Amino acid sequence: MSASADTAPARKAPNTAHPSDAPDAPDAPALDATVRHPVVPVTGWGRTAPSGARVLRPRSYEEVAAIVRGCARDGARGSIPRGLGRAYGDAAQNAGGQVLDMTGLDRIHVVDAAQGLVLCDAGVSLHRLMKVLLPLGWFVPVTPGTRYVTVGGAIGADIHGKNHHGAGSFSRHVLSLELLTADGEVRTVERGTPLFDATAGGMGLTGAILTATVRLLPVETSWVTVDTERAADLDDLMDRLTATDHRYRYSVAWIDLLARGAATGRAVLTRGDHAPLDALPARARRDPLAFRPARLPGAPAFVPDGLLGRGPVRVLNELWYRRAPRLRIGELQRLPTFFHPLDGIPHWNRLYGPSGFVQYQFVVGYGHEEALRRIVRRITAQGCPSFLAVLKRFGDADPGWLSFPAPGWTLALDIPADLPGLGPFLDRLDEAVATADGRVYLAKDARLRPDLLPVMYPRLADFRELRARLDPHGVFTSDLSRRLGL
Ligand SMILES: Cc1cc2nc3c(=O)[nH]c(=O)nc-3n(C[C@H](O)[C@H](O)[C@H](O)COP(=O)(O)OP(=O)(O)OC[C@H]3O[C@@H](n4cnc5c(N)ncnc54)[C@H](O)[C@@H]3O)c2cc1C
Repeated sequence: MSASADTAPARKAPNTAHPSDAPDAPDAPALDATVRHPVVPVTGWGRTAPSGARVLRPRSYEEVAAIVRGCARDGARGSIPRGLGRAYGDAAQNAGGQVLDMTGLDRIHVVDAAQGLVLCDAGVSLHRLMKVLLPLGWFVPVTPGTRYVTVGGAIGADIHGKNHHGAGSFSRHVLSLELLTADGEVRTVERGTPLFDATAGGMGLTGAILTATVRLLPVETSWVTVDTERAADLDDLMDRLTATDHRYRYSVAWIDLLARGAATGRAVLTRGDHAPLDALPARARRDPLAFRPARLPGAPAFVPDGLLGRGPVRVLNELWYRRAPRLRIGELQRLPTFFHPLDGIPHWNRLYGPSGFVQYQFVVGYGHEEALRRIVRRITAQGCPSFLAVLKRFGDADPGWLSFPAPGWTLALDIPADLPGLGPFLDRLDEAVATADGRVYLAKDARLRPDLLPVMYPRLADFRELRARLDPHGVFTSDLSRRLGL
């Protein structure tokens, strides 16, 4: 390991370059063991299923250990680690217990710019990693659709990005991590061990990740060369993705789930790779690794509650499809534009109103294309006003026992939580997904029926058994784990 990037002692959230880079839980008070912290409402990014918890924000590993030992002693409602609260559902909530806001642990300890490795605290956000690493010619190996997630949250949900078909999920790039377990001890957890596989995608239930060593991706510029094309319907879309995904590092399709008839499943594909230096125009070559995320041009500073309804979404989808080029090759886009367009709209999760919205994401295995077609037809017939719907092909799975990605087709869509009949409708989709070798993504869930879980996640029994040994008194627990019996 070489240059130390940031070895200053932990301090109050320095990740404030963007208003969204702050925890979505109310400001946690400074930790003082003698103070009984108030119960405050906590939600996921979808703002459904709020619950009350005491939110504590430890500033050192010792403080985390003291809280966890206290939980073990008290035998009360336990604790759950939380990052930036970008899980849509109830994974980082703990009704009546404690929520451990890990964003106070935010040191980047070592950047090895020769080998492309970073050792950092779990509370460091991907946004901050990009700010520090891009000027050195390195990028995070996997990024989700927002960079306002922490390294701990990325491992806890074993997140995937537009490069899953080639790069796998986040945990594939984690060499080791330090985990504070229910007994208050810190364990170094290496790849290829059962504890690693239970923790990657383990939704914070094996303990609090304190640090991680992550392998990075070399880049010459902070730009992406992007090819865009339209697909006329779902079959056209699937054919295009199947035939040519292997040519691209990154690939995703926005899909219009309100289009009907012959246009059902019409889509816009955007695929690309990091731009080499010689692809940039002279002006951009002067500072090729500059990282300048900005608010989307025209985006309001404040999003009014409930702006999106079925009518506006139908119009938006129509416009989005029509303004996309039929085919455009080699467009240069800045990294934030390509990867994180929503981050340019502060608090966009208010768009659906006070009832919030459900992000429903599932994968069905290859060979189950007919099931995917049926599900898309059902969603279309239901008239779900979904604007942020994406379809993607996953590559090989990683070993995390509760890791979501598996070889197959994954569809993610947003649905207003107050859509009439939504609960039974999604229950029926869950059943169709389960019978197509599929599963739903726990980081986005707040409503799945527990009986489907063992069908969707075949290593569930191993996970439960390991947890029972590691944490017999249920120190680490969450609304998600209670609801699903994890
Ligand atoms: C706009 C948007 C786009 C998204 N796009 C994608 C995508 O493309 N792909 C994808 O996979 N996901 C995506 N997500 C979901 C998001 O990446 C995950 O939910 C991620 O886990 C959020 O990280 P976080 O730091 O906010 O963690 P939180 O939401 O706070 O917590 C998520 C889980 O991680 C656990 N956790 C957090 N910190 C720790 C820690 N230190 N130790 C142990 N466990 C911990 C929590 O207990 C919880 O179970 C998206 C979310 C949003 C809002």
